[in-house]
Amino acid sequence: MPLDPASAPVADRVRDLNERYRHHGATAVLERALSDAQVGNIALVSSFGAESVVLLHMISVMDRTTPVLFIDTQMLFEETLQYQLDVSEKLGLTDVRSIRPDPEKIRELDRFGALHLSDPDACCDLRKTQTLASALAPFDAWITGRKRFQGGQRAALEFFENEGDIRIKVNPLAHWAKDDVRDYMINNRLPRHPLVSQGYPSIGCKPCTSKVAEGEDERAGRWRGKDKVECGIHFINGKPVRRVAEGTEGEATPQEETTMSVIVTDGGFAADDWNGELAAPEDTGAAAVLLPSDADPEVLRDRLDQLKLVAVDFPSFADGRGFTIARRLRLMGYTGRLRAKGHVIADQYAMARRVGFDEVEIDLDLATRQPEDQWLRRAEWKAHDYQSRLRA
Ligand code: SF4
Repeated sequence: MPLDPASAPVADRVRDLNERYRHHGATAVLERALSDAQVGNIALVSSFGAESVVLLHMISVMDRTTPVLFIDTQMLFEETLQYQLDVSEKLGLTDVRSIRPDPEKIRELDRFGALHLSDPDACCDLRKTQTLASALAPFDAWITGRKRFQGGQRAALEFFENEGDIRIKVNPLAHWAKDDVRDYMINNRLPRHPLVSQGYPSIGCKPCTSKVAEGEDERAGRWRGKDKVECGIHFINGKPVRRVAEGTEGEATPQEETTMSVIVTDGGFAADDWNGELAAPEDTGAAAVLLPSDADPEVLRDRLDQLKLVAVDFPSFADGRGFTIARRLRLMGYTGRLRAKGHVIADQYAMARRVGFDEVEIDLDLATRQPEDQWLRRAEWKAHDYQSRLRA
């Protein structure tokens, strides 16, 4: 007789489940886990990373209403956000929940989005572990894509795990080999994450993910150069804790050299929410471009309505040509987002706003030397009335 999830200890249920499903395959384990009363209320946690589509596809076939928790750390690649939308729609998943870090905590602990540079453990804890802990609160169990072949503490992975005596972790792919994953995707013609073909076999947050060279382990680049190998999503007694070699499937990885920047608006400092590239002005298909300070904005005239963001380079604070470019763009009718990027100082903020800039992008270093209140004081002087002034 199955143990009652409402009263039987997690450890007893896990022992019994592993015993009962010992000789089952991945799909059978997953299918039973979705309905076995001993498992209880369950969700799939997915990063929509390089291999996530396998479990997402299985779920879509078995029960497309299964809750899928997608942790949007707000540091992900634009490609991942799009892939999440595309795959969810293609597979007909009806309950995909994008879960995000607490904005209050982000403002308090990582307002510049730079915590990953100084303390990646704290960053993962803030953006992933705590976020998931809140989202998992109503569930008795969650499904992960971890596999034994990934090594480390995963080498002895069971189908069912006791997570701190509060919840069950289900690992249907525990016994799969790398080839099983690949074959499943090929046989079911599943869409691959677009970055896989660009050299990213494991895909996570943008600043912590870089390409993996030929011959390197797939995970060799994880937090490259840092003493960190996993995001550490794990809970003990209901509280999120760090533990090496744990995590959700598809979390990623290596570290590219990154210059951190801070966006300044009238609301203060913020992390850059523009995930896409800034293309050269000649790239006619781009949604966002970077204009050099000596550029002629006329090159954009024919496609101003297609552009979502135009950034204008300020190579030094003494170079005021960017203000003229902004003024001309607004006179030409550009109504999209306009950004001053580079060496702009707080004293220039009011001028930047008057000529039509919506925001300023500065290096973290400059933001540290010129704190937010210096910029906000300037924000009080300006009126965002560039159009009326320009008409006058
Ligand atoms: S992977 Fe990097 S950016 Fe993402 S939460 Fe962890 S440390 Fe932060």
